Amino acid sequence: MADGTGLPARRPLNTGANTAAGAERSPGAVRLGPVGDVTGALLDLDGCTWFGGRLADGAAEFVRDLRAAGVRVGFLTNASIAPGARFAAMLAEAGLPCPADRMLAPLDLVTLDLRSGSGRWLAPGAPVLTLAADAVRDALAAAGADVRVPEPGAPDDPLPAPTDAPAVLVGRDARLSYRDLTLATRTLRAGARLIALNGDARIPAGDGDVVPGPGAIAAALGIASGVRPEVVGKPSRAFFDAALERFGMDRAGTVMIGDNPFTDVAGGIAAGLRTVWIDLGAFRDGAGPDGSERPAADATVGSMTELRALLAR
Ligand SMILES: [Mg+2]
Repeated sequence: MADGTGLPARRPLNTGANTAAGAERSPGAVRLGPVGDVTGALLDLDGCTWFGGRLADGAAEFVRDLRAAGVRVGFLTNASIAPGARFAAMLAEAGLPCPADRMLAPLDLVTLDLRSGSGRWLAPGAPVLTLAADAVRDALAAAGADVRVPEPGAPDDPLPAPTDAPAVLVGRDARLSYRDLTLATRTLRAGARLIALNGDARIPAGDGDVVPGPGAIAAALGIASGVRPEVVGKPSRAFFDAALERFGMDRAGTVMIGDNPFTDVAGGIAAGLRTVWIDLGAFRDGAGPDGSERPAADATVGSMTELRALLAR
């Protein structure tokens, strides 16, 4: 627990643990166009490595080339509906082998913290009002949290009284209702912390469509309650630090690759990494959620195929 994140100590290099995932050799470096030499690559999932579970063109080949050159590869997703192991299995099923310990999702940070007992996010055994998918509820309970969920109710029923939970945790939850928002607001006003698995206001839903993300739900609760949300996932520094530690990556040699300039690129820069922005058009205009300017990445490309073409150039 060297970094206080509650994550296991970094594993020694070259253990051969990932040979099944694509022949990761002893640490090597590869030149990636204007990014320079890199020894580690962190990849975002949605809008970068895949689109709704379908691999992006060139993604499998790019990762294969990196691994063949001895570059460490890990995946850093803000997805808030399940633990990272679920996404690792889905990635493998889609055709890109990924060991479970090479994937980190915000929920993993919370459950690792619970198991370590550090109490950074949640204290073991303490109640947490959970507005999130079933897989999130299950993982939190398995890691030792006392998971409380909203009672179902009809729109005409009296609105629920606050719980005594010291924390409210928000992920993407398709069941969310006005009753749930009221319960959470009242619980927050009674003194609870507001923990958002990520701060993403919008989640791309394909063809330019978006749906509200946990950041939008947390923002609504924050406005209603006056309690400021604490974000677990990107762009939080703790999330990037945990990934470097878990994947055994060297900060100075690692590049963060993603499509969201305000989480992937800004978070990567703040964590001291080099960055690649995959520009799909959605973030070309407009400022960040807090009005900030779009940060400049070391390289900007239009696709993984284009990024792969920068290898060893
Ligand atoms: Mg993305």
